[in-house]
Amino acid sequence: MRRKVIAGNWKMNMLPNEAIDFVNALAPLVKDSKNEVIICVPFTDLFYTLLTVQDTNIHVGAQNMHWKENGAYTGEVSADMLKCINVEYVIIGHSERRQYFNETDETVNLKVKQSLAKGLKPIVCVGESLEEKEAGKTIEVITSQISKALDGLTLDDLSNTIVAYEPIWAIGTGKTATADDANDSIKAIRNEIKSKFGTDDISILYGGSVKAENAKELFTMSDIDGGLVGGASLKADSFSKIVNFDK
Ligand code: PEP
Repeated sequence: MRRKVIAGNWKMNMLPNEAIDFVNALAPLVKDSKNEVIICVPFTDLFYTLLTVQDTNIHVGAQNMHWKENGAYTGEVSADMLKCINVEYVIIGHSERRQYFNETDETVNLKVKQSLAKGLKPIVCVGESLEEKEAGKTIEVITSQISKALDGLTLDDLSNTIVAYEPIWAIGTGKTATADDANDSIKAIRNEIKSKFGTDDISILYGGSVKAENAKELFTMSDIDGGLVGGASLKADSFSKIVNFDK
């Protein structure tokens, strides 16, 4: 369902005590927001974070999972393991996982399907590299990525899915896509989803150096439904300003 969502991605940052302090600081700052607030935290913070968000409007996600049910996959975490402690969301296919951990369109699709089958809601990331952007291939790359990532999903699955468009050259670099360019890319993703499923009733977020200063311009564009925020999600104060972009 299309709605405004602001999701934080802590990446490999924050110890459990820092996660608890963060939630306690963030909760009063965002309690009146109509936007959905999600924090995607390291596995070791999940349990503490989930206990601390009780009675708040903050939702919790993981940053990855394996697509297999269980088995000899040392170091991996399954969808059931996340679901049984009440994790709600899981980021799938973040560019850092594609770049450093051999995530492919195929494994992204397997993970998306497994997350949904187990009752988790995936936040599916797509985005072009700088080389692809400079070669004029942005739309080709991101429509192909989203088509493969969502392959085999039902309409019900789609209603439990969030997409994040994150140009790789904008992640953690301080360079942000212009609001018009981000909107055009997200519109293309929306059109691809519409041609595949007959509906584009899905939240599509922008990610890539979002901060309090640029959130409003980006999130009020026609096709952008909020953001996936890395660096600026590590401090409750800066993250709350992004969540409250519409205040
Ligand atoms: C991200 O981690 O998804 C991200 C967009 O990072 P940053 O906001 O730091 O660019």
